[in-house]
Amino acid sequence: MDLKTLYREVIVDHYKKPRNSTPLEQPDVESKCKNPSCGDRVTLQLRFTGDDLAEVGFIGVGCAISQASTSMMTQAIKGKSREEALRIMAAFREMVVDGAEQPDAATLGDLVTMQGIAKLPARVKCAMCGWSALEAALDDQSEEVDMDQDTSMPAAKRGSGM
Ligand code: ZN
Repeated sequence: MDLKTLYREVIVDHYKKPRNSTPLEQPDVESKCKNPSCGDRVTLQLRFTGDDLAEVGFIGVGCAISQASTSMMTQAIKGKSREEALRIMAAFREMVVDGAEQPDAATLGDLVTMQGIAKLPARVKCAMCGWSALEAALDDQSEEVDMDQDTSMPAAKRGSGM
């Protein structure tokens, strides 16, 4: 099995069996993100113990990339401190949005399987939707994030859903 096939299988597995996709009973914060050009939506919930993200849950609809990315994200940040979560987010953004050739695999874990998205500008917003919700949650921002309004996303991406 080549690496691309393996990566695709990991993404499909997360899409079909999303991790942490159960709403929390008592979330401390909830944030939402939408990506209208593809139809992706993510609601993310966090419960903190001190500074740690003790529980993470999400409810999502949309394409495989948006849902798999969010599922993997919840696994990566669960139990981590706020600062560690931000560090993982920065590494993911660097890989997918900035197209870093040498992603920080130690920090990213399974998320490294999404490296190919950097070469699919239309899908970057899909991959970043859950992360934008995370950013909003950590910022205590209650307004829904709209990926189509995010000017840091690559430019050619409007409307080529897959
Ligand atoms: Zn999408």
